[in-house]
Amino acid sequence: MTTDRRIYSYSAVLMGSPILLKLFEHNESLAARVFRLIKAHENILTVNRPHSDIMAINHAAGRQPVVVSQPIFEIIKRAKAVSLLEGSCFNFTIGPLVKRWKIGFSGNTVPDSDELQALLALTSPDDVQLDESSRCVFLAKAGMEIDLGAIAKGYIADIVRDFLQQEHIENALINLGGNVHTIGAGDDNGAREEGGWAIGLKKPFADAAALIGVINVANKSVVTSGIYERYFELDGRCYHHILDPKTGYPLDNELLSVTVICDDSIDGDIYTTLLYGMGVEKSLAYLQQCADIEAIFVTRDQQVICSSQRQFSFALTDTAYRLAN
Ligand code: AMP
Ligand code: MG
Repeated sequence: MTTDRRIYSYSAVLMGSPILLKLFEHNESLAARVFRLIKAHENILTVNRPHSDIMAINHAAGRQPVVVSQPIFEIIKRAKAVSLLEGSCFNFTIGPLVKRWKIGFSGNTVPDSDELQALLALTSPDDVQLDESSRCVFLAKAGMEIDLGAIAKGYIADIVRDFLQQEHIENALINLGGNVHTIGAGDDNGAREEGGWAIGLKKPFADAAALIGVINVANKSVVTSGIYERYFELDGRCYHHILDPKTGYPLDNELLSVTVICDDSIDGDIYTTLLYGMGVEKSLAYLQQCADIEAIFVTRDQQVICSSQRQFSFALTDTAYRLAN
């Protein structure tokens, strides 16, 4: 039983998001080490500042290969493999489009379609040449840009989980702004016999604290991608931050958000984007073959659809939404 244990929360703003760490012990120095770890990896992976390991690759596009560390080579290799999956809407070379749209940043405007076509020519994952033996990454065309925004938080959340486990922490929750990772059975014994962490499923386009329901998990990652996270409105249209690599425009389908529950947050982060592009029907069929990956879809017509509930339980709290079976 864990309900009588006190929880200590630590927060910071990193990666442009509020970061929350929950521990069952008062340990400020551990929290500071976690935040330093996140910051160090943000500094390596960011494309929102002029300099980082990824920006070094981008700056050298069309000119020369860049040597990266083994972990960075691995994450790039994974991102390329996922981008090359048949029908994948995940594309880690989406950078030129992300930079042009500036969604979630100041100065966002709607590009015209000629401009988008020109930028799409710079987003072929095949044009990222990887040399395993030298750990070299080369973007074959000038103007290409890698963007790991759809995978970086998941990658970092797993690093935090591994670090806390090495420190023998048996219960913790880290929330990297939409990417939640949990260690142990948490603080809520209500919903599941074995206990669990209670994680809110955010209500799209509502107050930050407004929830549709509560997800209960233990020892799992819970990652959400939603079109309400970063967007701007113009002439009655909503332009959000998940772009369709085929058209260059924001992905347009029946979904408002996708949440993935699985062991590793990097998988959760990849799958939220992949499933987002597949839409509900295809995703549900696809997930039947993936025992370890489960998802919750929130649709524009206010349905909440769980692919299955083997590794988590979900309780709907907002009656404006309907739980579909
Ligand atoms: P997420 O928060 O995981 O949904 O990732 C969203 C971020 O991924 C965006 O802010 C972009 O940096 C990047 N992104 C946008 N569209 C795509 C895409 N189709 N494939 C991969 N990354 C994308
Ligand atoms: Mg993602």
